[in-house]
This record gives sequence, structure tokens and C-alpha cells, in this order.
Amino acid sequence: MTQPRFLYTANPARVIFGAGTLAELPAEMTNLGVERAMIVSTPAQEVDAQRVARLLGSRAVGVHPEAVMHTPVDVSDAACLRAQTLGADVVVAIGGGSTTGLSKAIALRTGLPQIALPTTYAGSEMTPILGETSGGEKRTQVNPAVLPEVVIYDVDLTMGLPAGMAGTSGINAIAHAVEALYAQNSNPVISLLALDAIAALARALPAIEANPQDRSARHDALYGAWLCGICLGSVGMALHHKLCHTLGGSFDLPHAQTHAIILPHALAYNAPEIPEVMEKLRGVLGDDPARALYDLGRAVHAPASLAELGMPREGIARARDLALANPYWNPRALEPEALSVLIERAHSGEPPA
Ligand code: NAD
Repeated sequence: MTQPRFLYTANPARVIFGAGTLAELPAEMTNLGVERAMIVSTPAQEVDAQRVARLLGSRAVGVHPEAVMHTPVDVSDAACLRAQTLGADVVVAIGGGSTTGLSKAIALRTGLPQIALPTTYAGSEMTPILGETSGGEKRTQVNPAVLPEVVIYDVDLTMGLPAGMAGTSGINAIAHAVEALYAQNSNPVISLLALDAIAALARALPAIEANPQDRSARHDALYGAWLCGICLGSVGMALHHKLCHTLGGSFDLPHAQTHAIILPHALAYNAPEIPEVMEKLRGVLGDDPARALYDLGRAVHAPASLAELGMPREGIARARDLALANPYWNPRALEPEALSVLIERAHSGEPPA
């Protein structure tokens, strides 16, 4: 039998992982040769950004707590102006995917290096992907220039992530790893990372739900999220991500919750065409991986149905048509009938078929 050929490209990043690693930030700035940090966050996490500023003392030249969802270009342009006015030579981003998005947009426009301090499991800090919105349109680009130079994963920064958010954000991360396993350009290295990541998150998320202060579970979840981010940044995604993108954009649905609902259904849809991947998934999720992901959603009290997120039932046909409109690679051909069933079940919150 001919062995498969594959291509593996690693994205460069320096990663510091563990509890209390935020303390390494000043030394990491010295390593990078930078002295003037502008710290970005969402308004809700300004207190975290101010804490980082206190840690850096005079090396923090400003806090810019203006990150919002979907990385609007006017917000990014204003942040660049602020960075210029402050004379910043590095962007320090503390927060989830929205904050990392702002940091990436600043880096793209100014060339400033970035140090990311992730506080959710979205994984954007590991990807060369930037999605920006302007005039209601989201445009996504892949550009290595947006990759943060340094990522500090401090488990302590995730201890306050509410259990509900940890659950949906964690399943969002699992989705990156699941689709990486059957990506058109998948490779054995990414598959190893994906399986380890799924196992870590599937174990950790219910434990966090049971006890949000479980430090070992928080450690495992962040570790899994890091690996899931590498998966997302390294290989192409398929039906699940495209469907979530379409649903999120067309019906204004929240990102992580939409992922948590769709993932079991997307995997069940693809299952007949990916027997080897399903076998690997059985090793980490048990006999019925799609059902296990559905049950994981229930265990962490994630919403089960798109209806709960506010998507009208009449939207199902439109969602299917939009999903079919821009063809993309998927292990199973996009079949209108079967796609309708998938979206219908996700809409009503039934288990995957
Ligand atoms: P988010 O960054 O929008 O955060 C949601 C809210 O939770 C914000 O108010 C944030 O301040 C708050 N928050 C974050 N961490 C917290 C913590 N530890 N404790 C308490 N509150 C906290 O949500 P997200 O799910 O991390 O990111 C979603 C966004 O990231 C989407 O826009 C998505 O498109 C993008 N994303 C991009 C990529 C990429 O590769 N470009 C990858 C994944 C996600």
C-alpha cells in the first residue's frame, strides 16, 4: 500500500504556558527588544488590562480597552492612531478572540509585534487568520503578518472565565480539532495534536462545570485550546466552520454557542465519508463521537438549539441555500436534502442523526 504524502507547515510562535506565567511578560518584552506597550482589551476586561499595566510600570504607555466583536475596521483604525500617538512599540492583548482580532489588525497596519495573553479558548492567537468587518460585511484574510510573536497562556487568567462561557468556548475549540482531522490538507502531526486536544477538553469541560475553581481542569482546557488553535491555524476547515460562519453572519448568532450547537450535527453528516477519523475519535470520545459531542454540550449547559439563539424557523431554507452558494471542499458532498435535515435538527435541538 502506498503511504500518504503530506505537507506540514508550522506557524512560528513562542509559547509560555502555565499558572502564573503572566509574571514573565516583562522578561518577554526584553527578549523582543521592546519597551513601550499599548495594552488592548474589551471594555469588560479593562480591569485585567490595568493589572497588566501595573505589572509593566513605566513600560506600559497606555491601555486601550476598545476591542469589540467582529473586529470593525474603524475600531482598528482608531487603535492604530492611539498606538502612534503613544509611541507604542508592542501591542499586548489580554482577552478572547475579539481582543486578539484587534491586536492582529493593529499589527497588520503598523507592523508592531504582539504579545497575546488569551483568556478564552477561541485560539485566534495561534492562527494567521484575521476576519474584519466594514459596512456590515465580514472579510477574512490569511496573512502570517498577523501572528503574535509571543503567546503567554496563564491558566490563572482563565480561572474567572464563567463556566458557561468556558463550556461553549471549549466546544468551539474542539470544532477546530475535529475538522482538522478530516481537512483536505490534514497531516499526521496535526492529527496527533487534534486528538490530544479533544481528549483534554472533553475531560476538562465537565469538570470545570462541576467546579469552576478546579485548577487542574482549567489547565487541561487551556492546553487543549492551545493545540486546537494550532489546528485551526495550520489546515483548512470544512462544513462545520462554513456553516457556523454563514449562520452567525446571516442571523447574527453568537459565535461560540453556534459552534457548540452545530458541531455534533456536522460531524454526523461527514461520518460516513471519514471512517478512519471516526475510529480515531472513538478512541477519545467513546463509541458514538457525534453523540458524545452533543452530550458534552448538555453537560456544560450549552444551548442545544439554534431556536434558543433566536434563529427563526423560516431561516432554515435560507441557511441551507447560503451554505450551498459558495462551494468548498468537504469530505462529504454538500447534499441539499441532508443539509436541510442537519440544520433542522440543530434548529430544534435534537441529537445528531
Ligand atoms: P470574545 O473575545 O468576544 O469574548 C466575549 C466576552 O467575554 C468579552 O466581553 C470578553 O471581554 C469576555 N471575556 C473574555 N475572557 C474572559 C474571562 N477570562 N473572564 C471573563 N470574561 C471574559 O469571545 P471569544 O469566543 O474568545 O472570541 C470570539 C471572536 O473571535 C469571534 O469574533 C471569532 O470570529 C474570533 N475568532 C477568530 C479566530 C481567528 O483565527 N481569527 C479564531 C477563533 C475566534
